[in-house]
Amino acid sequence: MERYDVLIAGAGVTGGMIARELSRYNLSVCLLEKENDVACGATKANSGIIHGGHDPVPGTLKARLNAIGNPMLFEACRQLNVPHRRNESMVCAFGPDEEPAVDRLYQRGLENGIEGLEVITGDMARQLEPALSTQITKALLIKNSGIVCPYSLTIAAVGNAMDNGVTLKRNFEINKIEKTDGLFTVCSANGETVQGEYLINCAGCAADKIAAMAGDGFYTINPRAGEYMLMDKSEGGRVSRTIFQTPGKEGKGILVTPTVHGNLLTGPTAQAVDSGDSTFTSAQQLEKIQRLAAKSVPGVNFRQVITSFSGVRSSVDGGDFIIRMSDKVEKFAHVAAIDSPGLTCCVSIAVYVVDMLAQAGLKLTEKENWNGTREDPLAFSKMDMDQKNKVIAENPAYGKIVCRCETITEGEIMESLTRQPVALDLDGVKRRTRSGMGRCQGGFCSPYIMKLIAQHTGTDMTAVTKNGGSSYIAVHKL
Ligand SMILES: Cc1cc2nc3c(=O)[nH]c(=O)nc-3n(C[C@H](O)[C@H](O)[C@H](O)COP(=O)(O)OP(=O)(O)OC[C@H]3O[C@@H](n4cnc5c(N)ncnc54)[C@H](O)[C@@H]3O)c2cc1C
Repeated sequence: MERYDVLIAGAGVTGGMIARELSRYNLSVCLLEKENDVACGATKANSGIIHGGHDPVPGTLKARLNAIGNPMLFEACRQLNVPHRRNESMVCAFGPDEEPAVDRLYQRGLENGIEGLEVITGDMARQLEPALSTQITKALLIKNSGIVCPYSLTIAAVGNAMDNGVTLKRNFEINKIEKTDGLFTVCSANGETVQGEYLINCAGCAADKIAAMAGDGFYTINPRAGEYMLMDKSEGGRVSRTIFQTPGKEGKGILVTPTVHGNLLTGPTAQAVDSGDSTFTSAQQLEKIQRLAAKSVPGVNFRQVITSFSGVRSSVDGGDFIIRMSDKVEKFAHVAAIDSPGLTCCVSIAVYVVDMLAQAGLKLTEKENWNGTREDPLAFSKMDMDQKNKVIAENPAYGKIVCRCETITEGEIMESLTRQPVALDLDGVKRRTRSGMGRCQGGFCSPYIMKLIAQHTGTDMTAVTKNGGSSYIAVHKL
């Protein structure tokens, strides 16, 4: 049976970043993920905002990890070559009733030690963002906030961890945990088993179930879905900052934001759902997004929607992150209830958790040859003509455009199939290259990409899946 120093349950941004942080040390680490790829939980469907830190309640772990995590994440994005931008954000008040909320958030931000906050008038807000509603009377400007591509971040973090020796096991749905003689024995639904001395629970919406399996299930995750509408790049320049409304009982409310890839994103809603897998969208919630987004930015053209999607928050009563060593099960770490701003905090959480493990007895000796950087994948569309000609001369696959909407070449698709963590399905290729993320949403390029996956893996196109399991796309050959 394979045996590791540390096992991590869940390969979202939290588990992925902890794996990267642990890869600095002379340890054997294994990341266990139930899906066919990393970043398939909340990490793939969120707003992608690097929050400034003005929002969490002062004194909470969230407030502390957000304040220190913001600059840490910007730094990690640079090291890992992940698309990100410090685009600033605004929380807007619509009239005198909402204005005190702006002042409260400003004070809260000061208490949290956040710099770069400014309360501005509605006119000043419109000078910065001409598309804003004339109904906005006051706003909090947050200069240290930004945007990031959350799945690129996680793929890069896991890839970097793997380059530094971490093992990733996918399709490993943990369904049993035993502890004997100081070792965790962790079993998967399909009969695989691994052992580890430490076990870190980063299972998102399933963290309560993993904690119960380990013998310390003292909290319940209340999954809360957030639906989004993503607009074509023709709408991407409508605002350059992320535009929030004042928070209500449903959280931070509906935002309007550019994405790092040049699209415009609106959402999220907030409604209770059964589980982390409840990622459906509904006409009712999409209508609500349109109504509330138009309140902030009236000109958004919803005829340019290219897709809608939903992500599920792993919320708990009390609202703070649960990050601590178990009181009951030695060497078991809870990293649960990582809802917003969990993406912003991924690096600060990772550092916090590794420190916590060290205090619990994990021996940390630094590797001499650890490399925390990762090369940018070759992005053909960003190259100038000389660079394009050079890479095509070296590898003609870069001369063949496969995804016309996003200008993605066969060379890039092949890179996604060969670079760790390799893509195993159509969605995996999409998240790594952006093929299928454009206006036609994969209508033209999917069959050819399926053919490339089949050729590369030595299978038939009927064996290629959308996202693992039985999500087959082609039934048989006509
Ligand atoms: C709608 C929405 C908007 C958000 N917006 C922002 C934002 O703008 N900024 C921000 O900072 N944060 C935001 N967040 C929060 C952020 O997305 C999360 O904090 C972060 O993605 C949590 O990552 P995670 O790795 O803890 O969880 P997840 O990404 O959910 O990962 C958990 C992993 O565990 C795996 N797993 C589950 N059960 C098992 C099992 N039995 N065996 C093995 N693996 C298992 C899952 O498949 C999954 O991959 C938002 C969240 C949502 C839902």
